[in-house]
Amino acid sequence: MQARAGWPRYAVVPLVAVAYWAIGLFGMHYFARHGLMPAPIWLPSALAFAAAWRFGAAGLAGLFAGSMAINAVSQTQGLADALTLSVANVLGPWLGVALLKRRVGDRPPFFSTRDVWHFLWTAVGLAALVSALGGALVLSDGGMRLTPDFLWVMLRWWLSDASGTLLFAPAMMLWLLPLQRPDLLPRIALAERVLLALVVLALSFLVLGLLSNPSGLYSGLPYLLLLPISWAAARVPLRDAHLLASLVSVLAIVGAVGERGAFFVDSNSQALTAAGLMIVSQTVILLVVGALVMERRLAEDRLRVANQSLEEKVGERTRQLVESEARFKLVADAAPFPMVMNRLADGGVIYANPRAEALFGIRLDAARPLFVQDFHVDPARRDEVAALLQARGRVDEFEVELVDGAGRRFWALLSCQAVTLDGRRHALTGVNDISERKALEERLHAANAALRRQVEEIESLQQGLKEQAVRDPLTGLFNRRYLDESIDRVLAHFAALSRPVSLMMLDVDHFKQINDCHGHGAGDRVLSSLGALLSDRFRSGDIVCRYGGEEFLAVMPGSTLTDARIKCERLREELQRTPVLLPDGVSLGLTVSIGVAAMPDHGDDAESLIHAADTALYAAKSGGRNRVCAAEPYNWRMASRHDA
Ligand code: GH3
Ligand code: MG
Ligand code: MG
Repeated sequence: MQARAGWPRYAVVPLVAVAYWAIGLFGMHYFARHGLMPAPIWLPSALAFAAAWRFGAAGLAGLFAGSMAINAVSQTQGLADALTLSVANVLGPWLGVALLKRRVGDRPPFFSTRDVWHFLWTAVGLAALVSALGGALVLSDGGMRLTPDFLWVMLRWWLSDASGTLLFAPAMMLWLLPLQRPDLLPRIALAERVLLALVVLALSFLVLGLLSNPSGLYSGLPYLLLLPISWAAARVPLRDAHLLASLVSVLAIVGAVGERGAFFVDSNSQALTAAGLMIVSQTVILLVVGALVMERRLAEDRLRVANQSLEEKVGERTRQLVESEARFKLVADAAPFPMVMNRLADGGVIYANPRAEALFGIRLDAARPLFVQDFHVDPARRDEVAALLQARGRVDEFEVELVDGAGRRFWALLSCQAVTLDGRRHALTGVNDISERKALEERLHAANAALRRQVEEIESLQQGLKEQAVRDPLTGLFNRRYLDESIDRVLAHFAALSRPVSLMMLDVDHFKQINDCHGHGAGDRVLSSLGALLSDRFRSGDIVCRYGGEEFLAVMPGSTLTDARIKCERLREELQRTPVLLPDGVSLGLTVSIGVAAMPDHGDDAESLIHAADTALYAAKSGGRNRVCAAEPYNWRMASRHDA
């Protein structure tokens, strides 16, 4: 379409008209001069199809004018005949071009074998046939009846139009548009083109224009010219090849008409037929070869474009991959903790960031492969990590002892994530060196243990002190202070339960004499062994204490006066039976006097009960010693009066 802009419409009509008229006139005169009328090759039909194809309505108008000029003016036919011929001359190309454009579009129909086929049947077939119909209508006498005369005229006219179209239409159509796809043409020097054209034309001139062939021996020779012409179709722009072929065809026609060249044997009419056959084969071969070559070039170009876009895509993808890998590496390298990536199957390390390399004192290089298991102190722990990763895909805060490249051991927390890379399972592991924390923890543990020991010591010391405060050092029994602290609580508790509590007051008989006779040490010894015996004979809930000097007091919660009396009697008897053995081997017999009182029999407070027991003891002493006396029953009435 844009090419059409170069041809102003107002100029197209007269230009086409004049050209049609001039070529027609020239052809008629030329062939008539040699007695070859009607013209065996009607050259204007090539212009008719090319102009209709290239200029559309304006071209058709020009054609009509040109045709009328020839038929009505130059040939002086009747107006009806001139109109019939001109309408047919316009109608044929119009119909052929319309159908061709529907099939092929605006591009020259020579760039694929399919397009060539459409060109052949629309231009050579249909358009020429319609024009021939017009000729037959005018020239055959019978009007439009299918008489042999009508058909003969129509066939001759059609052959003349068809060969004219084949001879020039492709070259014209190609030259009427700017060069198509110059990028697809082989880079061929102008000198080679010119040389090729000159050689072909020179040979054609020799073979078709000069050669004398009376015996018909060389009649096939012109067909050799097809070889360089076909070769030209592959090597030079198609329009140049067609122009060359057209020139060769013209030489063939001129030679045949002028009764010279390889085609002429005995008559110019026979020579022209032979030339026409060669022109048809030459043009069709050129069209087909040109289309095949162009198809191949277009396919190659499409392939090149596809390849280029593929390459661009691959390049872009590669760049993206490189970028993404660089980004990943940047992130991994800059990670603020040691990071390692290894194959899960064999533990082979494929990546370690700078922090990991620094931590392990290693450098990852292809020459010396590294394996994660070499950095585990306990191989079983590494197997555990691998098994967990296989099972769960991740491992968090796994504490292990590791060893670096120099053999230094340290504790670390591993956090791992299983990932699939290139179809294989890998472990991405973050390593947290916790050796400092671990050492700190150990120091803390040691400090804690020491502290605990100290606390225990202090507690036992405190316990000892507490014991010391309530124990009598000589006998190991409770002291009077403890008695004072605890007796009221015990009495209140048992009184609340309405249960009895008994008291025993014991005094060693004539103890002074022991001191006097055997020394104070012996007296102490007697006191301590008496204390041991007492603590052994009373129940754990009883309070047995050294009341003072050689006097002992026992509180027996839950015991009635009678029970207490019986128990004290047994005790007295046992003591009497059991002499105390002094270190010097002397065995000391010993008796005790015991006073017993009980709650509620002798009161319900410590003071009354101790007093009652003491009174009973006094009674035992005064009664002759080595005996047990119970307190007198309490006179509640007297007590209340006294209290009042
Ligand atoms: P009786 O009770 O039978 O009337 O005669 P006794 O000699 O036991 O009487 P007394 O109460 O006068 O004497 C108690 C003596 O016990 C007086 C004191 O020197 C002695 N004594 C008191 N405490 C201790 C002690 O801790 N060790 C020793 N060896 N003697 C002590
Ligand atoms: Mg005494
Ligand atoms: Mg005494």
